[in-house]
Amino acid sequence: MWMSTFACFALKRSTSSMACQALRACRKPGLLPSCLTSVQFCGQHTLGSASVPVARHSVRHVRALDEERLMEVEWEDGRHSLYPFTWLRDNCQCPMCTLHSAQARKLLMSDVDIHTGVDVVEVTSDNKVSIVWPNQHTSVFDADWLKKRCFSPAARQAVREELFLNKRYYWDSKLRLPTANYQEVLHDDKAALAWLLALRRVGIVYLKGAPAEQGQVARLAERIGYLRLTFYGHTWQVQDKHMANNVAYTSGRLSLHTDYPALHFAPGVQFLHCINQAMEGGMSEVVDGFHMAKQLQREDPEAFHTLTSLHVDFTDTGTDYCDFMLQSKKRIIDVDAEGRVVRINYNNATRDSVLDLPLHQVQPFYRALKAFVDLMNRPENMVTYTMEPGDIVTFDNWRLLHGRRNYISRPDKLRHLEGAYLDWDEVMSRLRILRRLVQEHQKHCQT
Ligand SMILES: [Zn+2]
Repeated sequence: MWMSTFACFALKRSTSSMACQALRACRKPGLLPSCLTSVQFCGQHTLGSASVPVARHSVRHVRALDEERLMEVEWEDGRHSLYPFTWLRDNCQCPMCTLHSAQARKLLMSDVDIHTGVDVVEVTSDNKVSIVWPNQHTSVFDADWLKKRCFSPAARQAVREELFLNKRYYWDSKLRLPTANYQEVLHDDKAALAWLLALRRVGIVYLKGAPAEQGQVARLAERIGYLRLTFYGHTWQVQDKHMANNVAYTSGRLSLHTDYPALHFAPGVQFLHCINQAMEGGMSEVVDGFHMAKQLQREDPEAFHTLTSLHVDFTDTGTDYCDFMLQSKKRIIDVDAEGRVVRINYNNATRDSVLDLPLHQVQPFYRALKAFVDLMNRPENMVTYTMEPGDIVTFDNWRLLHGRRNYISRPDKLRHLEGAYLDWDEVMSRLRILRRLVQEHQKHCQT
């Protein structure tokens, strides 16, 4: 397996020692794209928190703060953690309260006294924390389990990052596409983990060495879990088609877009496998939509505000897997409650002529959209590449915008890409499992 320098670095930071073996064959170490060297890789943007701590924590002392209804744990290193009584009672790990075979809570909310006190809290001889509740029910908590669930802002941030890997590395035209080998990703857990980590952090990973025949994107999806069925089928064939039901199925240029904004829940991840390339043209283009949104916010805050607040109509009508008539309303730049950009929804082909805006917002909307598109089309922001038969590009469809230059269509040698969608929930699920497998394997090797 070989990864670009960029991914090597990202992986080293994110999975610490385990990545060392995974990245045994980094190419040209030390050549990070300059856009990524300082800001995104330094200071608070480190990936260290993505690793699962292996150190065992031990409890020095525990006491109940009855007034505040909190339990205080003092750790061996002198640090303290606070846990609300209500939360502790709610999360009792005994077999009456927890179904261990499902790792799920059996205790019903209706049976939880959210004003409970405690009778006794103590450290057990095997360094667990034991609580006796007023009704004499007893809960015993493992020290590591408690430590991981500490309520301090730093601890919560670390767990959030470990679970969701929300820190992203922004890039521009200087990005060297993280690249891995298709067969290794299919058969080697460390290679698969490296692939998914880079897919999450960078948003795009290029896989080389797949057979140039249909069925490979489905195999790749099965490596993760299952693919996402849409109206274009389980997988779909990007070719120049007669009476095309999608602009992608022509030989024309496709401007930068995300796929399927006409669905309220657009597919999170996209795979595109090149089976046949055009003799002339057909070059691919990608930009980092999150980076572009941030840049727009800096350069043109009014346009950013417009695109993060107005809902725009998208539509898609036709017949493929079955007949469809989709309508959606989306903000072109989606932000979460904290104002962080979480999704880009933009495809000029399926942006509806129905525009459900008051008259006075129409021109400002066009101005904002034009500013965003102009920004994305700047050469310094765009990465271009030409796929060869056997190449598969895997990318974050909530983040990247992708396009294609027009090409000369030849009926005797049709340009042919096969595509498939997945969702981030399934991809992240596989990533977490692979991370645990690789870590367990490493622990096993060390002992
Ligand atoms: Zn219990």
